[in-house]
Amino acid sequence: MAGKEEVFVGSIDQGTTSSRFLIFDTAGEPVAVHQEEFTQIYPNPGWHEHDPEEIVRSVENCIEGALKIFEKDGHSKDSIKAIGITNQRETTVVWDTTTGEALHNAIVWTDTRTAGIARELKAQKGSDKTMNICGEPISSYPSATKLLWLLKNVEKVRKVYEAGNLAFGTIDTWLTYKLNGGPEKNIFVSDPTNASRTMFMDIRKLQYSDEMLEFLSYEFDLKKVHMPKIVRSADKEVYGKLSSGPLKGFPIMGCLGDQSAALVGQKGFEAGSAKNTYGTGCFLLYNTGDKPIISTHGLLTTVAFDFDGKPVYALEGSIAVAGSGVKFLMNNLGFSQASHKITELAESVPDNGGLVFVTAFSGLFAPYWIDDAHGTMFGITHHTERGHIARATLEAVCFQTKAILDAMQKDSGHALKELKVDGGMSNSALCMQTQADLVGIPIVRPKMRETTALGAAIAAGFASGVWKSFDELREVNTVGETVFEAKMEKGESERMFKRWGRAVQMSKGWLA
Ligand code: ADP
Repeated sequence: MAGKEEVFVGSIDQGTTSSRFLIFDTAGEPVAVHQEEFTQIYPNPGWHEHDPEEIVRSVENCIEGALKIFEKDGHSKDSIKAIGITNQRETTVVWDTTTGEALHNAIVWTDTRTAGIARELKAQKGSDKTMNICGEPISSYPSATKLLWLLKNVEKVRKVYEAGNLAFGTIDTWLTYKLNGGPEKNIFVSDPTNASRTMFMDIRKLQYSDEMLEFLSYEFDLKKVHMPKIVRSADKEVYGKLSSGPLKGFPIMGCLGDQSAALVGQKGFEAGSAKNTYGTGCFLLYNTGDKPIISTHGLLTTVAFDFDGKPVYALEGSIAVAGSGVKFLMNNLGFSQASHKITELAESVPDNGGLVFVTAFSGLFAPYWIDDAHGTMFGITHHTERGHIARATLEAVCFQTKAILDAMQKDSGHALKELKVDGGMSNSALCMQTQADLVGIPIVRPKMRETTALGAAIAAGFASGVWKSFDELREVNTVGETVFEAKMEKGESERMFKRWGRAVQMSKGWLA
């Protein structure tokens, strides 16, 4: 008797520091992976750019690389039913609709050059209304101020805008546009999880808000800028097909911003579930069900996913610096050549030795939102060694997560029972143990940590019928979890957190 045909789903994971292509089987296991890092461009202090064309090339290379492995292992590419995309959010690309060519490097989500624009917008009448309309406070983080900076400062961009040909997109939009062949097919879409990071979208209607476009116009007419159509996160038709490469003609059917994808990949489908992803930055998403909760404690409201026209929402706590702090110790301070060595260094000392490192390299995000905070170390003595600095770098993320969880509890009225984690920095057992100690609930780390990519595969898998219900995914990625339980005495963790709070207050306004 012939066995059931084995089917697979491809997943493009376009992150801040690398791109990946993974091919998942129906049990949610990746059977082939290819990853490529790309150039990080830091033209000035606080500026962070990517070359949009290099991003597309890196994705194409990853598809080619993973497919070679897949076919070498005896699989046929015809068994790949659909492709999903997940991507770094907020990062902003502008291009000319007539040529399909990017007009400037992408401004990355971590970039703080727009702090001045954000300050001016905050001073405008009506700035207190943005949270309720789009779920975000004004800051340099969402795409809006990045687009305004490009319009204001880059002549080439302004000329194309004046000619009525300026396209704006986040990385999901740019990738689908380019992978579909650019202006010829003109696939120009974004899903609500990405569009909710721009400040342009009404969080309830999932359409662009005239009020926001008007408020954010600065000295421009944002209605003159072409913005992608907002479509569902899982859809058979709207995302088009790859126009070249070994998977030419294969359909893209799913799209989720990276943090929403991680929530889906952790199967956080129900209200009350939460995950924290420790990547370049760190992002905690808490599923609040079919109604958006507008935070009064420094969290963002975002779309978790929209698979069937019934959007599910999340409260989000965003931390700008997590793994990038580890990279800073490696690349800028020469501490070591590998991320896991930073954890080993941190393990070489029994505690932080009184050192607190506020890693505010891009200001401080949730729940503080201090644009002018700067990276600052407190408590340096003759006793301080590199191990303490490494430990304080890991702890900075854990402290911010604790502050976010406290805020989430106040906004939602519920205390979390456990926290699912993933992302590169969750490889550090020391970091995860510290997290458990600080928040006092179990930290649950799955064995397969490519949950972001899995989330995009799930979106595409739903649209293509590979999976039909959330129930079918219950058992996916449950074997081999590690659970970190709190071990530290409560008084000690409270003392540490209090000291962190004081350090945050002192990191403000350094350049004022
Ligand atoms: P992204 O998807 O945002 O590019 P990843 O989830 O791939 O990020 O995580 C990469 C980050 O995780 C890097 O900054 C790296 O330094 C950090 N990282 C990976 N392994 C460890 C480890 N064992 N200890 C500490 N940090 C780690």
